[in-house]
Amino acid sequence: MQNFYRDTWAEINLDHIEANVQSLKKQLPPNTEIMAVVKANAYGHGDLEVANAALKAGATRLAVAFLDEALALRKKGVTVPILVMGAVRPSDVTIAAENHISLTAYSKEWLKQAGKYLLHHEVSLHMKLDTGMGRLGIREEEELVESLSFIDTHACFQLEGVFTHFATADEKDTAYFKGQYDRFLTMLKHFEHKGVLIHCANSATSLRFPNDVFNAVRYGISMYGLPPSLDIVDEIPFKLKEAFSLHSSIVHIKKVKKGEKISYGATYTASEDEWIGTVPIGYADGWIRRLSGSDVLVDGERVPIVGRICMDQMMIKLKEEKPLGTKVTLIGSQKDQTISVNEVAKRLETINYEVPCMISWRVPRMFLKNGSIMEVRNSLL
Ligand SMILES: *Cc1c(COP(=O)(O)O)cnc(C)c1O
Repeated sequence: MQNFYRDTWAEINLDHIEANVQSLKKQLPPNTEIMAVVKANAYGHGDLEVANAALKAGATRLAVAFLDEALALRKKGVTVPILVMGAVRPSDVTIAAENHISLTAYSKEWLKQAGKYLLHHEVSLHMKLDTGMGRLGIREEEELVESLSFIDTHACFQLEGVFTHFATADEKDTAYFKGQYDRFLTMLKHFEHKGVLIHCANSATSLRFPNDVFNAVRYGISMYGLPPSLDIVDEIPFKLKEAFSLHSSIVHIKKVKKGEKISYGATYTASEDEWIGTVPIGYADGWIRRLSGSDVLVDGERVPIVGRICMDQMMIKLKEEKPLGTKVTLIGSQKDQTISVNEVAKRLETINYEVPCMISWRVPRMFLKNGSIMEVRNSLL
């Protein structure tokens, strides 16, 4: 199992991912399909492993942002339906068709261009309606009607679904959300009797309004055990289980004298004689310089990162001498202390989504199943 040679790794708890999908499934009306959103390498967790865990727990489909991400999953042997939610170049639709990957049709112009390339191929489409997100999708009913008739008259296109995406589903105030929902309902009149998959719900919508999700949901952040926003934590009907944690080890330790300096710029000065440990993780791993001064856990206690974080290493101030190899937890729990993804996000003045995504693939991912290591993915070797 040991296929990495540095003392830094992320742990991905697949049992937690399964539990989160199962809990959601219980909330949804029967026969609602769950699409597991595994874009960006499953929000930094690991696309194949998360996809398999989600499918085992009741998801039936996958969704990604780019065609390359869908192709990567096919290459790894995934055979379930995959939707690419982002824009795919019309000239690449045949690649999608050959690999049975469903695409997002987001304008009449895209359909026209894509049609030119599909001489001997058929591709499945989900039509994207822009009801207020302002990102991708058809906004006007006129263009919608023309697009639908273009699909109907071109055998290369199979309409598989229709969807929209909410801009404010994770906010307490639901006025804008309701406006988007009503707009979606209006536009859906053109899909009556088409028997397609209808989906609008991201995590926040699935958790807050499980009975208003039509026949499929797109489950992202909460599958990883993170709340879509801190505003609606009290509305989440079950306990989410965080799947991502990040660990390293002390590889060097020394006692520095009062007045001695640490790291680039010599910005940190020991205020007394101090034990300083060196930890092999840095900004090239996504543990960015802005995290200097924040805490890590050693033997269940919080200790600070001191001096500037380097590309590959950083220093921490210890309360006492520790043996080399002592575990350092940057995200996760030790004894009764926890540093959550949300705590790191707050420190960086960003959202929790960004945190696992920014931990680079130089950090090996260790996948845990039934409490033991199932697999380690080291993208370098
Ligand atoms: C990323 C994404 C999702 C998943 O959203 P979460 O908030 O992570 O659940 C759903 N739909 C679209 C279109 C997305 O881009």
